[in-house]
Amino acid sequence: MAMQPQKWFKQIVAHAKEYGFVFPSSEIYEGVGGVYDYGPFGVELKNNLRAYWWRYMVHYHSNVVGLDAAIFMHPRVWEASGHVAMFHDPMVDNLDTKNRYRADQLIEAKIEQLRRKKKHARAEALQAALNAAMQQQDMAALGRLIEEYEIADPESGSKRWTAVRQFNLMFSTRMGATDESSTDIYLRPETAQGIFVNFLNVQKTARQKVPFGIAQVGKAFRNEIVTRQFLFRMREFEQMEMQFFVRPGTEMEWFSYWKEKRLRWFLALGLNAERFRYHDHENLAHYANAATDIEYAFPIGFREVEGIHSRTDFDLRRHAEYSGKKLTYYDPELKESYVPYVVETSIGLDRLFFLILSEAYAQETVEGKQRTVLRIPAVLAPYKVAIFPLVRKDGLPEKAMEIFEALRPHFNCFYEEKDSIGKRYRRQDAVGTPYCITIDHQTLEDNTVTLRDRDSMQQERVEIPRLIDIVKARTDWAEVLRRI
Ligand code: ATP
Repeated sequence: MAMQPQKWFKQIVAHAKEYGFVFPSSEIYEGVGGVYDYGPFGVELKNNLRAYWWRYMVHYHSNVVGLDAAIFMHPRVWEASGHVAMFHDPMVDNLDTKNRYRADQLIEAKIEQLRRKKKHARAEALQAALNAAMQQQDMAALGRLIEEYEIADPESGSKRWTAVRQFNLMFSTRMGATDESSTDIYLRPETAQGIFVNFLNVQKTARQKVPFGIAQVGKAFRNEIVTRQFLFRMREFEQMEMQFFVRPGTEMEWFSYWKEKRLRWFLALGLNAERFRYHDHENLAHYANAATDIEYAFPIGFREVEGIHSRTDFDLRRHAEYSGKKLTYYDPELKESYVPYVVETSIGLDRLFFLILSEAYAQETVEGKQRTVLRIPAVLAPYKVAIFPLVRKDGLPEKAMEIFEALRPHFNCFYEEKDSIGKRYRRQDAVGTPYCITIDHQTLEDNTVTLRDRDSMQQERVEIPRLIDIVKARTDWAEVLRRI
């Protein structure tokens, strides 16, 4: 049965905390807005997601190589990239509640409301006015729209607002020992620039020819105006980005290639295709000539999880201009030099984590009893197998430990003796472990165990030597990669 979105959202956040996936940062001090810590189960899932991306993007493409650039970069990088001048959001405060909002998001919510009420002409007029104001970065125009369309604070209904102001999203800090010698630097708001400035270093040392890509996973920081959306909008988060360098004029082919492959990457996990869609951009950023988002039906609605952008030669040209260094590539086949065009794929690891939790979380009633299960794709599950001796005596723990030791080199395994077997099964359901193995008295006689499947809850009697192959078959990366 479909769950009410608000309830679904709250349950996921609560479940993530209770079962050691995600904790609010510095919780004993009341937390920090938009910052989260990953617990023992969360870190395993996050590592597996990162590994899946890396395996496909880097190991599965011989023309994509990896990079791990530093978070701190020369301050000029952010001037060249346009972040110092352009990376801001329009902010507005309510005078009565002191609540702070992004003006464009308030207006977008109004457009959705008008559409729901079938006032299409008015909705389209507001959309056009919003697009124009955002394109021109006209804060006064946004303020006028809020007034004209009588947009109220969603929490209190108050319509008394401050003027709309620009707010730069980059965090800055100082680097250097003394006041005189230190300089202002930024925490990177995206990982992509580390790739652009290393373009020639990587191309030469990895002996790559255009077309080729550079992939990187790392932290990014944005001083987001409004968070309150769990892992969807954070101030410290992790991005997985790949910049693919191509011959000018071929970028649309590569844009289509990556657009298709990136969606297939999600679906190869067996996720529900109906919950995904593309959103092609009509209003392109100044540097882009095509852009699409892959959107997912999160509990907060259809939202972007990944962006695929054709960024032209904007970034390399700007860095060449600002650094005074030549950033061209000599194409041995064409026998000419040019500045490559770039197609980017950019996904948030934390947003992806939230997607997987949203997709996996289910509450069911089985034989009159409630169970909460995380149907995490088996390849991604924090633990693949849990191993339980039925009772803590009669040599069963020793036999269980023997199996645990035999399986451990192959899979991440969980061992537990405490509580009834039913309770132990429920706990593993709640953290998404695809298989539970129970060792009982019969095991000592015939070398068989009970293998329980998380999703069907079916139990079958299996000979111990078959266990590795059974679990491997369902947790094999190669199978998933072949489906992309
Ligand atoms: P949005 O419009 O949602 O703010 P964006 O268009 O600014 O996103 P990009 O700059 O294209 O996002 O960043 C690429 C990806 O990084 C996004 O698709 C998203 O998955 C992730 N991302 C961006 N901002 C955040 C954030 N504040 N918290 C978590 N993930 C983020």
